[in-house]
Amino acid sequence: MVLVPCPACDRRVSEKALASPSCGHPGRASERHGVVPALSRVAGTYVSANAVTGAILGSVMFLSVAAVLITLILAHR
Ligand SMILES: [Zn+2]
Repeated sequence: MVLVPCPACDRRVSEKALASPSCGHPGRASERHGVVPALSRVAGTYVSANAVTGAILGSVMFLSVAAVLITLILAHR
């Protein structure tokens, strides 16, 4: 078991403790647990940004194809 100093009260706290037993400050373990949700939030933002970009590009492509088709149909009359 590795003991690390609590950042709030400087007491030795187990590295695996979720919170300091003396002051309740979140420990290293909870920090480590917090990294994954933080990364997935970043990844989620990235993915949704890509999805928005894709949706915009898709609608622009659809509109330009529709415009070309309408122009062709009107020109062949
Ligand atoms: Zn503490």
